[in-house]
Amino acid sequence: MTSKNDVREEYIKRLHLNGSDCRSLGEIYFDILKNDADPNKIALIDKFTKKQLNYGELLDESLRVAEELKTLGIGKGDLVGIVSGNRPEFFVPVLSCFFIGATIHPTNGVYLLSELKDTFSISKPKIIFTTEENLKKVQQLQADTDYIKNIINFDGNYLSIIRERSGLKRDEIVENSDHDSAVILSSSGTTGLPKGVVLTQNNIKCSFNYLKYPYIDLNPDNVLIGMMPYFHVFGFLLGIGNIRNLSLTVTLQKFQPNHYCEIIEEYNVTSLQIVPTIAVFLVNHPIVKNYDFSSVKDILCGGAPLGAETQIFLKQRFNCKIRQMYGMTETSGVICLMPIWKESKIGGVGKPFPWVDIKIIDIDTNEEMASGGNGEVCAKTIQNTNGYLNMEEETTSMYLEDGYLRTGDIGYLDENGELFIVDRLKELIKYKGFQVPPAELENILNSHECIVDSGVIGIPDRRAGELPMAFVVKKDNADITEEIIKEFVAGHVSAHKQLHGGVKFINEIPKGPTGKILRKNLRELAMTH
Ligand code: AMP
Repeated sequence: MTSKNDVREEYIKRLHLNGSDCRSLGEIYFDILKNDADPNKIALIDKFTKKQLNYGELLDESLRVAEELKTLGIGKGDLVGIVSGNRPEFFVPVLSCFFIGATIHPTNGVYLLSELKDTFSISKPKIIFTTEENLKKVQQLQADTDYIKNIINFDGNYLSIIRERSGLKRDEIVENSDHDSAVILSSSGTTGLPKGVVLTQNNIKCSFNYLKYPYIDLNPDNVLIGMMPYFHVFGFLLGIGNIRNLSLTVTLQKFQPNHYCEIIEEYNVTSLQIVPTIAVFLVNHPIVKNYDFSSVKDILCGGAPLGAETQIFLKQRFNCKIRQMYGMTETSGVICLMPIWKESKIGGVGKPFPWVDIKIIDIDTNEEMASGGNGEVCAKTIQNTNGYLNMEEETTSMYLEDGYLRTGDIGYLDENGELFIVDRLKELIKYKGFQVPPAELENILNSHECIVDSGVIGIPDRRAGELPMAFVVKKDNADITEEIIKEFVAGHVSAHKQLHGGVKFINEIPKGPTGKILRKNLRELAMTH
């Protein structure tokens, strides 16, 4: 006899077999917003400014901005950047780029000028969308580089554009091939400096399979918080997913305990999409008990490991299903997640989607491991990126010969096929879910006149997940302290990349025969030092 769950599993399998939508992302979003959306329903509202866009305005403004971009000569193959925190207008240039077939590269609004220079040196966007707060920085970027032709300020000339333009028509929306790039997102991958991960039209369309039932409840009354950063793969895809699902999103630029709780209570938020740092806050912070969270029916947590204790307390506090999600920028976000009627086992990050093949390989031999063993998690799926922008070598080394992508994570599949992540092989540090590439900090440290060499690792921290910590070899007799080094680094990077884990002085950075830093040795040293 077929059980209800078998029918559901069969339904999931069929989802991707139905074939991908042959329309471009622009055509898909136009059709949904024009034909399915209630134009008066609020799509996005900001917690503070109360600025809101209903679905009619979201489509209208996106078509008008698309026309402006077209007039400025932007089309297929051109890059458009965003330098902004989460706010309702964020997705207007995203949809506009989908409409004209251009590629969008969102970045972190709090990046310093030097970080923006590094990030955009890869994609060289011709137009940048930004905010009043970031305008001076972006103008300086334009003055210091030669690729930015125009700046569009959401709080300035954007307003006259949407007043004066009449907007593209349906038949002007560009048809893209599945392999055209749609989005560039920054990630350092398993090693080195941040790179531009190219996500194609097809990657994003495939990720739509998990941005709907049975992974996300499609109730039209869904209310979500748009706080996971929109420049990061999880925030970006959940953001465009929420629009596609015609939900209401309340945007919040920066996490603040009372504001976050107020949104849940005031707007009757139905689903929380969080990183473990927020989970720790929700189970520990004293103010949380002052709020009514009974509207929350579903909690999704990803981006970094969720502690077992936190997961248990979170479930008790909310009395709803807790599902971990696992994925990375290079896999267009989530590749493992339980369907909505199941929850993750403690420590489990969910089952691979039916269109995702996971294999676990021995880290020394690259051979597939017998089931149950710990090894490097590798994934084969249409969601896998085509590669890093203009970086052939790094792209090649990301893949095994048989086409599986190396995630740089260590884990195993249990007897039911659920994935467990137990360690990280790659260099990446995750501070509150944000990527901190050690190589970036080491380059900065090594540029200091009193420093001979350095090695950066992440040390475990319950609240933040990991704290970036530096081992430093200083020049003989150099008069330099931990404080000076921390300040020096803080002058070059945004807050999440600073040396929150401190600085330790040593005589030599342990390195292997090829000069690669032996981070495992540094981690052991951190425990004993
Ligand atoms: P990013 O490209 O910034 O999304 O980072 C991806 C990396 O975050 C993965 O390769 C993992 O190391 C880590 N990660 C994401 N989700 C989880 C999870 N649920 N549990 C443990 N680590 C995770």
